[in-house]
Amino acid sequence: MVDDASGAQHVLDPQEGECVLCFVARAVDELGCDGTLRWAERFVLVRVPPATGVVRRLRQGAGECDCTVVDRGHTLVREQLVRDVHTDELMLPERMPPCAGVRRTSARPCRHWRRVGVREPSDVASRSPRCRGRHEGEPTGPVGVP
Ligand SMILES: [Zn+2]
Ligand SMILES: [Zn+2]
Repeated sequence: MVDDASGAQHVLDPQEGECVLCFVARAVDELGCDGTLRWAERFVLVRVPPATGVVRRLRQGAGECDCTVVDRGHTLVREQLVRDVHTDELMLPERMPPCAGVRRTSARPCRHWRRVGVREPSDVASRSPRCRGRHEGEPTGPVGVP
């Protein structure tokens, strides 16, 4: 685990065959979310350079940063969830399952994920504690765009 204050300079790369969501989930888990889609964008950069539309699509469906891509835009399929013994609710496992694998140039999630719509606004507040995105009023814009 990386300390919240020092994670920014670390960079992760997707592994061979790892899908975009498993990568983003892993990266957010290890290094945190800075309130942008940097991991989703990194995946695209490293793995599927021409597919910039992927990031746009993720952004539309899921919100403004990496942890919401995973938390809101997609969820693990039922078989990958674990049942909380206290609340009897299905929840994400503490450790993500290893990626089921995708074709090398694919920007699609592997079969561990299914798409969900953006949930109710009340639900949206439950942002990942790992997110240190722009909720402190810090504007984030695309880097290098005038
Ligand atoms: Zn995967
Ligand atoms: Zn975030």
